[in-house]
Amino acid sequence: MKDYAKYSFWLETSGDTLAPRTALQRSSEVDIAILGGGYSGLWTAYYLLRANPALRVAIVEKEIVGFGASGRNGGWCSSRFPVTPSVLEERFGTKKARNLLLAMFDAVYEVGRVCDEENIAADYCKGGILSLARGAHQLPLVQSAHAAYDRLGLADRFRLLSAAECAERVRITKVHGGLYTKESASIHAGRLVRGLAAAVERRGGLIYENTEVVA
Ligand SMILES: Cc1cc2nc3c(=O)[nH]c(=O)nc-3n(C[C@H](O)[C@H](O)[C@H](O)COP(=O)(O)OP(=O)(O)OC[C@H]3O[C@@H](n4cnc5c(N)ncnc54)[C@H](O)[C@@H]3O)c2cc1C
Repeated sequence: MKDYAKYSFWLETSGDTLAPRTALQRSSEVDIAILGGGYSGLWTAYYLLRANPALRVAIVEKEIVGFGASGRNGGWCSSRFPVTPSVLEERFGTKKARNLLLAMFDAVYEVGRVCDEENIAADYCKGGILSLARGAHQLPLVQSAHAAYDRLGLADRFRLLSAAECAERVRITKVHGGLYTKESASIHAGRLVRGLAAAVERRGGLIYENTEVVA
C-alpha cells in the first residue's frame, strides 16, 4: 500500500488513516458515476444527493480521495476570480461581472456553511484577503481594482488601506497601501476533502478507491 501521507502536508495532517476504501470489484449500476474523488467529484455528488437522496451515486477514484490537487493545494478558499474586476466588466458587462463576483462570495460562505452542517473540522477561517501594493508602482493597480468594485456596486465589501493600516496587520517592506476584503477564507485542504467524502457517504454515496477508470 502506498504511503499517501507523504504526498502532502494536508494529507499527512488530515487526521485520517488514509487507508484506501474498497475497490470496485464487479460491474455495478448507478444513476450517476463520477470519475475522481477530488473537490469536483465530491461537491457534485454531495449536491446531487442533497437534491435527491434516492439517487444512486458512485465515485470511482484511482488512488484515494484527495490524492490529486484537492489534497495538495494552497488552502485558500478565495473569492478571487483569476482576472481583475475591470477585465471581467470589460468582457462580460457590469451585471454579469457583478453576479459572478457575488457567486464567488457565496461560494466562500457556502464552504463554511457545509463544514458546519456536516461537522467537517477543516479549520475554516474567514479571515479575508489582503492585497498589498509593494512599491509606488503597484498602488494604481490596487486603487483601480477598488474603483472597479465600486462601479460594480461592491465597494462595501472592499476597503482601501493606507500603508500604516497595512503595517498594523502585516510586517512587509515597501508597502504603499492595500486592498482588504473579508470575502475569503483559509481551510485545511486535506480535512475538507476527506470530510466531504465522509459526508457524501453519510448521504448514501458510494466511493470506490484504488480503482482506475479505463473506459
Ligand atoms: C499547487 C496547487 C495549489 C492550489 N492552490 C489552490 C488554492 O489555494 N485555492 C483554490 O481554490 N484552488 C487551488 N488550487 C486548485 C484546486 O486545488 C483545484 O482546482 C481542485 O483541487 C481541482 O479538483 P478536481 O476534483 O477537479 O481535481 P483533483 O483534486 O485533481 O481530483 C481528480 C481525481 O481524479 C483521480 N483520477 C485521475 N484519473 C483517474 C482515472 N482514470 N480513474 C479514476 N480516478 C482518476 C485523481 O487521482 C484525483 O484524485 C491549487 C492547485 C494546485 C495544483
